Amino acid sequence: MTEMPRLLLLNPPSERMAVRDNYYGCSSKAGYYWPPIDLLALSGKLRRYFTLSVIDAVAQGLSSGKCMSLIKGFEPDIIVMLAGPVTLKSDLEFASSAGAAFKSRVFLSGGPLLFHGKEFLARYEFIDGVILNFVDNNLAEHILKAEEGYNVLYRGAGGDIRGEEKIRCRGDFSYGVPAYEIFPLKRYRTPLAWKKPLTCVKASFGCPVGCGFCLYGRLPYAARSLDDLFAEFRYLKRAGIKEIMFSDPNFTVDRARVEAICEGISRHCMGIRWSAAAHAASIDRGLLRVMKSAGCHLLEIGVESGSDRILQLYGKNSDRRTVEKAFDACKLEGIDLLGYFIFGLPGESARDMRATLDLALELDPYIASFSVACPYLGTPLADECCRKGWIDPETEEFDSSSKASINCGGLTPAEVNKMKEYAYRKFYLRPGKILKIALQSLKRPPLDFLYYLWYFFSRAAMTGRSFGSRAVL
Ligand code: SF4
Repeated sequence: MTEMPRLLLLNPPSERMAVRDNYYGCSSKAGYYWPPIDLLALSGKLRRYFTLSVIDAVAQGLSSGKCMSLIKGFEPDIIVMLAGPVTLKSDLEFASSAGAAFKSRVFLSGGPLLFHGKEFLARYEFIDGVILNFVDNNLAEHILKAEEGYNVLYRGAGGDIRGEEKIRCRGDFSYGVPAYEIFPLKRYRTPLAWKKPLTCVKASFGCPVGCGFCLYGRLPYAARSLDDLFAEFRYLKRAGIKEIMFSDPNFTVDRARVEAICEGISRHCMGIRWSAAAHAASIDRGLLRVMKSAGCHLLEIGVESGSDRILQLYGKNSDRRTVEKAFDACKLEGIDLLGYFIFGLPGESARDMRATLDLALELDPYIASFSVACPYLGTPLADECCRKGWIDPETEEFDSSSKASINCGGLTPAEVNKMKEYAYRKFYLRPGKILKIALQSLKRPPLDFLYYLWYFFSRAAMTGRSFGSRAVL
């Protein structure tokens, strides 16, 4: 019997805890880290064709040296490595060293390369290929045979760059049951989860809404085959997984499908708790009741702004009133909320930012995540910023969890950063909020909760956030 080629799925080391997941990336604000869905899905797709190994250097806390020695021990023929927007420079350096040291073919997968894959291949000779769509049904064949096609770009034998720089989805996708046995599942934790061990599952790809600051709006919407999804549910139940975080950018696009998935959860993995991201305009109490009875305990909702003008400008397809109704409905049905809020989108004024903070305080989700607008490569926002020269030339990293980098002649990056710091202080340092979070934390693994608190405040100290200072705004 011929031996299968050896393929390593790699989340490379990073100096700080940088999330690389589902094409996106940011630094972990509170020490949370979940399994990258890209690597999970790839492991399910590729396990029949390759001898697989996984190194999640961030979750495992590996230094570059230790990671290199683990790679050496496996001797991969192919390395498929994540590259994130926050760590792009160091990711490219690591890919170059690993490719040179082990003579492996190196494929990269990550948001920054999605719409610029050919440029990266032309510029960096150590990259042998770029995976554009990690749920492509023919991915294994593309990697093995280096065939012309779409969803994967290659460097040909003569150095020429092949493949179509297009992300396509034809019909439903499948990725089978991921190779869970090779992932360090005990290392993953998030304050969103009630129970451990937890994992991520993808039921759809892309988002039809198309907000101007979001990469997912540029990916075609496609659904995962329900048979394939339910097979994974059955495996998770048998394997003792207690919590699922759905990795869909927008889980509630199709109401009938959400109901079918809820029925599938009740039938195949009853008792597992789960969370998902929803668009405010697509939920109501009837749907929430179905989701709750199937184990949903938390929804993530992108509120983004307290200004209807800004929401309209960026094509959010939602407004303040819609968001308020959605939050009320979740609270009435007993579903916790994580609200996402952005400061510093071009076109925003100081008054708009204040309206965003006021809305966050009024909605009062269990967790509020405040970010700065970030021109992630591939988004319409990044295209506009590049065209108009709005990206601060001093910027070394693109991280919505860190410092603002857009200088569009309106709000300055310093003003936006101050507002984000102020918002965190205003939102979390309220006696009532502290008490609520303490009570909520009783539902979650207790040591994890202390760890998040320690991580959040020590990171704040390291990055110079002054929670006691008065913000200018
Ligand atoms: S609705 Fe959410 S996932 Fe969809 S494009 Fe907008 S921000 Fe992205």
